[in-house]
Amino acid sequence: MKIGDQFTVEDGVVTCGFCSAELGANTENVKRNLAIEQVSVEEAGPHYEDPSRYVDQEMVFRKFYCPKCATMLTNEVARPEDPVHDEVTLLES
Ligand SMILES: [Zn+2]
Repeated sequence: MKIGDQFTVEDGVVTCGFCSAELGANTENVKRNLAIEQVSVEEAGPHYEDPSRYVDQEMVFRKFYCPKCATMLTNEVARPEDPVHDEVTLLES
């Protein structure tokens, strides 16, 4: 099963949609197996508003890259001390 262009799930394994690198089991948060770059939210681009308009805490923009082909597969906004968010569980139907 293809999940957007970024991920494919087959036989319980998540792979990169661009290079087919194995990224982990579909029962785990594959974001933890990706290369992470953490930058300021301002570096995310003009479509991200200054987070200080909404929260009093420092926020960062995390980019998650395939460890083989270096394509950015997903991202998230979080506090610097936050663990990687479990936002999606990729299960086959
Ligand atoms: Zn890849």
